[in-house]
Amino acid sequence: MNDRDMSGSISVELSKWTRREFRERMAGGSVQAALLPVAAIEQHLEHLAMEHDWRSTHWVACRVAERLAPRVVVAPACMVGVSEHHMKHPGTLTLQPGTFLNVLADLIDSLVRAGFDHVLVLNGHGGNIAPVEGTWEQFLRMFPVNLHFLSYWDVLTKEDAQEVLEGGSDALPGHAQEFETSLALAHFPENVRKAALADQLDTSPSLASEEKGRVLGERIVTRVAEYVRDMIEGRRTVETPPFFP
Ligand SMILES: [Zn+2]
Repeated sequence: MNDRDMSGSISVELSKWTRREFRERMAGGSVQAALLPVAAIEQHLEHLAMEHDWRSTHWVACRVAERLAPRVVVAPACMVGVSEHHMKHPGTLTLQPGTFLNVLADLIDSLVRAGFDHVLVLNGHGGNIAPVEGTWEQFLRMFPVNLHFLSYWDVLTKEDAQEVLEGGSDALPGHAQEFETSLALAHFPENVRKAALADQLDTSPSLASEEKGRVLGERIVTRVAEYVRDMIEGRRTVETPPFFP
């Protein structure tokens, strides 16, 4: 296989390209933005595969890049995140906050050195938010490009949650509950052990449905794509924070 899928279109994943393909696409100006998905590999209750955060974030990133093709490429980034709070459940993998931030900085640096002016770190795990928020200003000083951080569920509103989820806005994003389980049922159902859905202490995952996952998945992809389009077209920019005089 080359880097084209069966339909003949170019893969949206940077890792599938050769160096020549990358060079030519960057030089030709067809590729304008990079998405860096960051997530977690951690317990997701009894019924959902531990890859959920990575799988969902990578799924959103690839669908967004397809919508905006050929302008956006996905750089498979950080499957594992900051998950110390889930380590009671063996099998969870975690990075220390400092390690996670170092890896993130190195990945952004690689993309900036490759020539990207627009980079979106697309997050799919709650535990990554606090370390990033606490240091983001420093990232913006280190990398003077149009750099953004967005948790993919943040494009959904309270109203979306109230309309689609029985748990309302409290269910967004939740952990392996109605929202995440619905996304999995709609887009990677092999990750859901249906027999275990209601057979556990927390039975809220049994409120999930494929239909809810389809509706919310579509809204997420549409709105993240708008977010990235706004970045590329200059409607969403970032100002470098001031340096000490
Ligand atoms: Zn999750």
